Amino acid sequence: MTEPEDRPDLHVIDVFMMSVKCGQCDGYQTLVRFRKEAEKNVYTYECENDVCDPNVTRTIVEVPKHLDNSTRRAEELPYYAPEGPREPPE
Ligand SMILES: [Zn+2]
Repeated sequence: MTEPEDRPDLHVIDVFMMSVKCGQCDGYQTLVRFRKEAEKNVYTYECENDVCDPNVTRTIVEVPKHLDNSTRRAEELPYYAPEGPREPPE
């Protein structure tokens, strides 16, 4: 019942379908971290070049958990580090 295809009216967000661009160097930022929080999933993007200091230009994207269609794929990423409160599988 919670699968997106069962809810055609529910808009979901797939972070892998969007690109994050840096306003400073005009380059695309790379997803470097994925973290789950209680109500949301947190994606961290950084510039991977010598132009920007990631500490200055890092982008944090927060997606409400119930709208996030990217979780499964994000969990397969090598840099996914499970932390925080553990939740039962959906
Ligand atoms: Zn940049």
